[in-house]
Amino acid sequence: MRKVCAGRIPHACQDFTIEVAFPWPNCPHNLRLELGKFYCYDVGMSKSPMMRQYDDAKLVCGDALLLFRMGDFYELFYKDAETAARTLGLTLTSRDKSESAVPMAGFPYHQLDGYLAKLIAAGFRVGICEQVEDPKLAKGIVKREVTRIVSPGTLTDDALLDPRQANYLAMVCGDVPLDRPGDDARIGLAWIELSTGIFYAATIRDEQLLDHLSRIAPREVLCVEGSQWIARLKAEAWMVTTRAVWTTALDRSVDALQKKFGTLTLDGFGFEPQDDAALRAAGGILEYLKETQKSSLDHVDSLIPYRTVSTLEIDRATWRSLEIARTIRDNSRIGSLINVVDRCVTAMGSRKLALWFSQPLTDVERIRQRQDAIEELVDDGRSRAELREWLKSVYDLERLLARVTTQRATPRDLAFIGQTLATLPKFKSKLAARNSDLLNRLDADLDLASELQEKLQAAIVPNAPLSPRDGGFIVDGFDLRLDELRELAAGGKQWIANYQQQVQRETGIANVKVGFNKVFGYYLEVTNTHRDKLPPEFIRKQTIKSGERFITPELKVYEEKVLTADETAKQLECELFGELRALVQAHTHRLKQNAEVLATLDVVCGLAELAERHKYCRPIVDNDRGIHIVDGRHPVLDISETLGTFVPNDTQIDEEHGWIHLITGPNMSGKSTYIRQVALITLMAQVGSFVPAKSCRLGVVDRIFARVGASDELSKGQSTFMVEMAESARILNTATAASLVILDEIGRGTSTYDGVSLAWAMVEFLHDQIGCRTLFATHYHELTELEKALSGARNFNVSVHEWQDTVVFLHKIVAGAANKSWGIHVAKLAGIPNWVQQRADQILSKLETDQNSGVHSPDVATAASASSGGKIQLTLFEYSRHPLLDKIQRFDTDRATPLKALQTIEAWKAELAPKK
Ligand code: ADP
Repeated sequence: MRKVCAGRIPHACQDFTIEVAFPWPNCPHNLRLELGKFYCYDVGMSKSPMMRQYDDAKLVCGDALLLFRMGDFYELFYKDAETAARTLGLTLTSRDKSESAVPMAGFPYHQLDGYLAKLIAAGFRVGICEQVEDPKLAKGIVKREVTRIVSPGTLTDDALLDPRQANYLAMVCGDVPLDRPGDDARIGLAWIELSTGIFYAATIRDEQLLDHLSRIAPREVLCVEGSQWIARLKAEAWMVTTRAVWTTALDRSVDALQKKFGTLTLDGFGFEPQDDAALRAAGGILEYLKETQKSSLDHVDSLIPYRTVSTLEIDRATWRSLEIARTIRDNSRIGSLINVVDRCVTAMGSRKLALWFSQPLTDVERIRQRQDAIEELVDDGRSRAELREWLKSVYDLERLLARVTTQRATPRDLAFIGQTLATLPKFKSKLAARNSDLLNRLDADLDLASELQEKLQAAIVPNAPLSPRDGGFIVDGFDLRLDELRELAAGGKQWIANYQQQVQRETGIANVKVGFNKVFGYYLEVTNTHRDKLPPEFIRKQTIKSGERFITPELKVYEEKVLTADETAKQLECELFGELRALVQAHTHRLKQNAEVLATLDVVCGLAELAERHKYCRPIVDNDRGIHIVDGRHPVLDISETLGTFVPNDTQIDEEHGWIHLITGPNMSGKSTYIRQVALITLMAQVGSFVPAKSCRLGVVDRIFARVGASDELSKGQSTFMVEMAESARILNTATAASLVILDEIGRGTSTYDGVSLAWAMVEFLHDQIGCRTLFATHYHELTELEKALSGARNFNVSVHEWQDTVVFLHKIVAGAANKSWGIHVAKLAGIPNWVQQRADQILSKLETDQNSGVHSPDVATAASASSGGKIQLTLFEYSRHPLLDKIQRFDTDRATPLKALQTIEAWKAELAPKK
């Protein structure tokens, strides 16, 4: 297909009149008009009708690869074929061998899932063009249509999704002039989980975008053409799809959203005038889904405004540093906080838990409601065990429902919905008359939908097949017409056997038999020896070597019924299936509510299970500013370390114990672990979960900032120190008095004096200008002096026990500053050679002596010595006299025998040899 002319209508408007000047009046080109664009394609006189059909489908798909259904195969053509052959390892062939041969590659239709998964994983969008009529019934070429366009952000197929993880599609809307970043720079962000229908929109500051994207982790981000975000997001390795500007026009978006949700205004959702960008982004998502899904999206039934004020904010660096959803080292879920706290037994529950952790609360009342529910289930272990057992038999209602409304459900999906609904009465009775508000609300929201459940269970067999075309999934007795057809199909075959016996009896021809061939269907075959016994109603059809074949009117009548019964039954089953699916779809809202109840119940039961198993406590969360934790533990290490080896620690942050804690201690003593533990306990408490501590009381935090450890950003062209400073700058610019800041080893990436000075100034700023709760872990002893200068600062250290020339880390946080750095001891533990350790010890004592005697700058650099030939030589310290020199001097050569002399030299050599 050759695009001969194409253009873009300058702006979105349905009433736009387009005048296209053609080179000649009877242009043989195919003119396509789409909103915002026009194309003119050379259809090529020599193209077959099917290839023209292909061209049409390709137009609909845009830049997506097109899988074109041809009989039992999906085929790709032209460039798509070459790409697919490369990506999927398919053989590249061509439709004909002529000069203008079209490259082609394909695979059998039943391998779609596997190949689709590979293409999506490789970052492609894929259009699927199906045969939409039965080829047997088609007059001329079979009709084909693009039934959907699959992209990473719009997956609903189970085979392509991780059941325990949400799969978001996001849209960014609104650019900020690069010279006007800052507070008033607002952009819109909307995100949807198509497989469950969760749909959010937010108005955010532009610098928050990457934080939100890290937390949401969308598989695909939509940006409008020409947006500055395209390059920035691609550089951060997000998969970006570019969209036309008109798809996010405000009027259009608002109109589309109102139509979608059947409302006259969007006020009811809680959007405000300043949310225009958010609504444009949400409208842009709907437009994209309309184009790609080509189905109703009934399960997407509301748009939730995401408000940062009611959510504990966690920026990108903090999200990563605290390893909430993924570990830093290998970006895996295993070892992350969510993985450890996830005790859910359903995939719906795991996804909901991840959502709770990505949006911790700031509203004390809502936190308390979740805690009440968890506490009730901690106390009632029996009910909890029962509920968790029943939840195991629940299917993923959210994703099943999404497949129903996108017309992709299978008979098995409907059977699963029916089976899930059948479990609801048990849940309802267990949730009845509970104490906590949340459990009572779950009870009230649980909708048994008994009529639907009864209908589904009466209609569909438990082990239903995946394709409705296979038939055999409607229960016998559900539909009279179907029963008759089935009887006919089965009984008819029996009838033919009976008929054969009857003819044998009546004609006396013992070897007459009924056969079948494609040309004239059922026939009676008689051998030549019995030719004279034939009755008159036998109509001769074929002569064969050994005899002749006949048909009879009676045989033909039955044949017709029998042959079509099976096919008609299957067709009827398809129709019945369609009706049942429509019935389920009509219950979308009620089913979605049930899915929500089951997911929430699973989360609450899981958190109660976790709390009880690991002896967590219910934290008191209030609007005070203090943080009081007794015997707090790091939630991940507490569980992953050998039982009982984790050393708990107390935390007291308040007026009396100081708002800024400076924690010193050797490396590896547990400083990072301790400060992270306080941040994680705070986060868990605000999710509503119990926390790993003996007791805990904390004042709600509006934001958590963690600058922990130097992460390697070199691949993005930034030095570690630069990243550290950029992250620190964000904290200093955005933290408020209600925030919790944890800082680890700030300033390590530069020289000691620079580092200490920066760290010192930052602590002063946090103390004087912001007044937030801060935990500052450092190995700079100099910073312990801050306690004297700042009224709210206190020193703490991790206690260390010195034993037989080595150190034992007690991992216990105690008041006061560490008395020395222990770095050399730690080096010893890590296996640094003895020689280096001893030498380092010497250097250290020299440094300490110099410092004590008032030498502020040890002789770091001295002028060149004569031996260095005038070059500058850095001699940090003079070498002290080696003890061996004294021994040599004292050795009495006059008295020593040659043997003694040799032995002594041997001993000296041994002394000089490096120790192992
Ligand atoms: P630092 O920040 O002081 O260098 P870390 O916090 O990284 O030290 O801790 C080093 C290791 O010590 C951890 O990986 C963990 O195995 C162990 N550790 C830390 N804190 C504790 C604790 N409270 N109880 C038991 N082991 C701990």
